[in-house]
Amino acid sequence: MSKARNGKPVHSRVMTKYLFEQNLNFPDGHHHADRQVKMQCRDVSFWYGKKQALDRVNLDLYDREVTAFIGPSGCGKSTMLRCLNRTNEILPGTRLEGTITLDGQDIYDPALDPTEVRRRFGWVAQKPNPFPSSIFDNIAYGPRIRGMARDGDELRDGVRSCLERVGMWEEVKDRLSEPGTDLSGGQQQRLCIARAIAYEPDVILMDEPCSALDPHATDLIEQLIGELKTDFTIVIITHNLRQAAQVAQRTGFFHLGELVEIGDTETLFNAPDDRRCRDYIGGRYG
Ligand code: ADP
Repeated sequence: MSKARNGKPVHSRVMTKYLFEQNLNFPDGHHHADRQVKMQCRDVSFWYGKKQALDRVNLDLYDREVTAFIGPSGCGKSTMLRCLNRTNEILPGTRLEGTITLDGQDIYDPALDPTEVRRRFGWVAQKPNPFPSSIFDNIAYGPRIRGMARDGDELRDGVRSCLERVGMWEEVKDRLSEPGTDLSGGQQQRLCIARAIAYEPDVILMDEPCSALDPHATDLIEQLIGELKTDFTIVIITHNLRQAAQVAQRTGFFHLGELVEIGDTETLFNAPDDRRCRDYIGGRYG
């Protein structure tokens, strides 16, 4: 068994080849001794009718860290994401067992209003989905319906700061009244991220946010994710292992509804414990 850069054993030549040929840059900032748990899942199982999609998942999401979910298609990653913000239960015939907490509070507590729970989450979809309205209104929508701005000036400042946050202000400041759907795909996705952060969520959930984007737009979103984690806890589903290595402090591998393994991204990539995870990272199936 050989040793990887961090001194951890590498289990297969395939993986060693993968890691070194990809020239992965793991993000800084893992192993925070003082990191706080933001969300906790304990023994979470989920069913669509008779079909079980998650099997006793135990998961901690740390505050202001990026956690990536990887694994083959159909293994429960999106289901897990939608259990975190209570959007799965909208479908009839679904059932959840186990507990999920946010800041220590059980988000499935029957006393809570599910709509209020959902508002604590931002959602970024696979395909950019701006509202059919202006760039300005896409972002102003959340603060408006939630009464977050006292007046027009405050609303405009808020919109500007969200656009600055996603690095788009200079690109769009002179055409804020144009439709959001006229922007390029990458800009639309950054607009959607700006719209998500305008709600001031606690956690941002991203379901393969770059799968419809070109490499340059993907780079910009990846950089942005790195910047956003100073304020938000982020979960990202990705089929792109390079992306997980690039943006995520922690990575979890799902297989057939189980969270088989989760850990610091670098450790998981260099020395996964589970054979299925090793095979996936080694590119033997996907
Ligand atoms: P992934 O995100 O890893 O591709 P999913 O969470 O989408 O996996 O799917 C997990 C399992 O749940 C799959 O077997 C899928 O067919 C099933 N599933 C997902 N959504 C639904 C649904 N709305 N109704 C019934 N089964 C579903």
